[in-house]
Amino acid sequence: MVDKYDEFSEKSGITGLERPEFPVDVGEMYEGERIRKPDMYLEFGGMNVNKKWELVLTRPKDQLEDGKITIIGPDLSEMTPGGSYPIGILVEVAGDKVEKDLEGVLERKVHYFTNYIDGVMHLNQRYDIWIRISKRAYQKGLNSLVWIGKILAWLYKSSFPVIEKIQITIYTEKAKVEELFPTAMDTWSKRDDRARTLKDEEVNEFYTCAMCQSFAPSHTCVITPNRIGLCGSVSWFDARAAYNIDPNGPNFPIPKGECLDPIKGIYEGINKVVQEKSLGTIKSISLYSMFDNPHTSCGCFEGIAFYIPEVDGIGIVHRDFKGQTVNGLTFSSMAGHTSGGTQNPGFNGIAIEYLRSSKFLQADGGWERVVWVPSEIKERVKDSIPKHIFDKVATEVECKTIGELKEFLKSREHPVVSRWKVEEVKEVPKEEVKEEAPEVVLPTQLPTGIEIPTQGGIRIILKNVKITAEKVIIKREKS
Ligand code: SF4
Repeated sequence: MVDKYDEFSEKSGITGLERPEFPVDVGEMYEGERIRKPDMYLEFGGMNVNKKWELVLTRPKDQLEDGKITIIGPDLSEMTPGGSYPIGILVEVAGDKVEKDLEGVLERKVHYFTNYIDGVMHLNQRYDIWIRISKRAYQKGLNSLVWIGKILAWLYKSSFPVIEKIQITIYTEKAKVEELFPTAMDTWSKRDDRARTLKDEEVNEFYTCAMCQSFAPSHTCVITPNRIGLCGSVSWFDARAAYNIDPNGPNFPIPKGECLDPIKGIYEGINKVVQEKSLGTIKSISLYSMFDNPHTSCGCFEGIAFYIPEVDGIGIVHRDFKGQTVNGLTFSSMAGHTSGGTQNPGFNGIAIEYLRSSKFLQADGGWERVVWVPSEIKERVKDSIPKHIFDKVATEVECKTIGELKEFLKSREHPVVSRWKVEEVKEVPKEEVKEEAPEVVLPTQLPTGIEIPTQGGIRIILKNVKITAEKVIIKREKS
């Protein structure tokens, strides 16, 4: 174990609001900076690292030493450039007004504050984090993780005056990161459990979260007890606690107003706020539908719910899923289509916790419509999948292609099969069908507004149309 605290024990600047001297610049203008592989000194977390996490915990004041930064494991200067390393970031905070409910919102700030550092990129949250340090930042003197700890401590204390004491520990030792991982998962699970007991009908107001507007200006997360923020880090309780300590911050209450549709989850109050926040671009949002005016998606969603027209069902994919999903597309290719703060019927950024909600896509059929989920996610949320549907939902283990999925759904008598129209396949004259022409049969009716992405080649965009056809034949053009 390497404890760097002694080397940096001066703690200058951390307890006050005066900006301390850091080797690189720090400010909101660096948010959104991308560090490409050739410019990267090294990275933490991401796809190449199995276990990584960041966690904020509240503590009694007498348990913390204000400004203490500790690194457990090798530091930046002791690592091989170009490598991918495990990381765990533990931020402990204390103060008379620092309530446990604040942990979620303070934790989400690790993402924003780390991105304020010139030459550091931070993506995602909780167990999904990915941090890159640029070669330029390292050369300028950002050669120790202690600097990142010091910068975070200063930003937390400057932004949240209620924090009286802060202590940050950064773990890079693989065994330690892995040992503490279950504790972090357990903490999140307890945090999310609390929100699970409350229903949208039982509260008078919902909350917004505008933290991601720097990435997607027209996006505002609408956070309700039944629909956690897309990143999975901000629950209704978290947003309420954040508003209570910072009424001018990114979370503020939305009076529900009249419920215009309880199944789709359309509320007068939400529509008013999203219209204002998107400058009229977004008119209405359905909390529980991915087809009809779906919730917008920034870029921080943990997973994507995507429509699979060939079986008229819904697939789910999470950020860490490697390779192609059952429709032949990867998470990244669908993420590009889902994000940006626009409404994309058929593609919905979601938190994994939303899969546990009793209102999960209820207007579209909920779990009765889900046909494919990565095995890791199916295992993680298995307690929330209705028992009668569990074995009918395929994973990448059973189905890698749409053809395999169709057979699987038929053999398991998945409820979506009853939605398939029995199609009379007419005899097509021989000369019209060439041997090599592959055929794709789409369902006879698509939900309105669906845009089907394709990998490379053509892109078919169908907006505000309803197409009815007995059969659609797509042929490869002869070169
Ligand atoms: S994804 Fe939503 S809830 Fe999470 S930080 Fe961004 S705006 Fe807030």
